[in-house]
Amino acid sequence: MRYVSTRGAARALPFDDVLLAGLARDGGLYVPSAWPRLTSAMLADLAGRPYHEITTRVLRPFVGRTIRGDDLAALVEDAYRGFHHTAVAPLKQLGPGDFLLELFHGPTLAFKDYALQVVGRMFDHVLKARGSRVTIVGATSGDTGSAAIEACRDREAVDIFILHPKGRTSEVQRRQMTTVLSANVHNIAIEGTFDDCQDLLKAMFADEAFRDRHKLSAVNSINWARIAVQVAYYVAAAVALGAPKRRVAFTVPTGNFGNIYSAHAARKMGLPVERLVVASNRNDILWRTINTGAMALAGVEPSLSPSMDIQVSSNFERLLFELWSRNGKATAALMQGFRASREAALPAAKLKALRAAFAAGRTSDDETLATIARVRDATGELIDPHTAVAVNVAMSQARPRDVPMVTLACAHPAKFPDAVEKATGIRPGLPPALADLYQRKERVSVLPNDLRAVQAFVASRARQA
Ligand SMILES: *Cc1c(COP(=O)(O)O)cnc(C)c1O
Repeated sequence: MRYVSTRGAARALPFDDVLLAGLARDGGLYVPSAWPRLTSAMLADLAGRPYHEITTRVLRPFVGRTIRGDDLAALVEDAYRGFHHTAVAPLKQLGPGDFLLELFHGPTLAFKDYALQVVGRMFDHVLKARGSRVTIVGATSGDTGSAAIEACRDREAVDIFILHPKGRTSEVQRRQMTTVLSANVHNIAIEGTFDDCQDLLKAMFADEAFRDRHKLSAVNSINWARIAVQVAYYVAAAVALGAPKRRVAFTVPTGNFGNIYSAHAARKMGLPVERLVVASNRNDILWRTINTGAMALAGVEPSLSPSMDIQVSSNFERLLFELWSRNGKATAALMQGFRASREAALPAAKLKALRAAFAAGRTSDDETLATIARVRDATGELIDPHTAVAVNVAMSQARPRDVPMVTLACAHPAKFPDAVEKATGIRPGLPPALADLYQRKERVSVLPNDLRAVQAFVASRARQA
């Protein structure tokens, strides 16, 4: 299996190189040169198997020969061993034919753990085989940082440095990062904003001598390996609900289009998916694109579902590449035009194909709160605001009675206690594994918003020097 860039000008690479590279050299995103198949016989055989076995089966053709069969199975089993639910990604029924897929049973209580716990171990495995190390750097406004830290802690071949804006994350989010005391984990609180953190990160990558000396790398959401690992929970949910005999629909709360793109990948591989629904909050560029064909940037507005407050859904480029029949040159021209003029119009035929593949809905902050309250009244369940955005959209979708609708619950309600309390009067408590989070010791270094200071800090602590 080899991977090609959506912009057509980078060399095709095997899985391990794509894992370490992230973005392609031509600025594009990697996609598989052909989709592996999940046949009906394979799907039927997966029903009732443990989650890690389903994941290994899904990943095997993507990984190819770059991680040996036994090693892959052991790595994946280890990745999910620490999850707080034996089903790993359990389904919970909300109503007739309506289900939640709970993806918050990992160490940081959000769905990013499902991919990153595997991807962190893949980095370590591939780097050890090469006798090499990397220095992972990232910037976070909250959720991504803690999932990356948990994925990389204690990995021999990886050091991780995460920048967050001092005093501007929630206390739960900060503590989930700063209470990880592993020697290879470095939390940096920048005296500045999230944008300052992102600018520092970009400047570190732009400094070629620095980047090469410390082998800088990232584990952001455009990494193909993350997309591939996420395919597994769509397969697991569908076979649990009767696939391949029965078709299933999914509604996904969407920001960078990474999670729902994995659902699309599952469908491409042969999973019987009746419908995929994009759920947006007020930052609704995807909703507008799918409903009107006008892909136009607007400013990011803060909402009750901050992990979806995104302007450019970077993984959408993978879908555009397909809509343009895998023509890298045409995709590159489209993306460059979009970057330059902040808008692009999809031709009618492309819009038709897009709308055949995806439906879209959006949810305001008021509707988010009302949905949290309604679900609590109807079922006794507390859901987080991101999940509520999707549940509200899912409920507005017409579908055949015999097609179950699965809505993805991407964060634990205790990660966003203020919104949940506002909607229901109940403050959700942290699950037992994190119950002592507020008592744990923190370690964090405060640095000024200054590139030289941050580079000196990284240089003095990275083992790849
Ligand atoms: C990251 C995140 C999202 C958005 O996922 P994408 O893959 O970027 O579309 C939605 N909800 C929660 C809770 C998240 O952490």
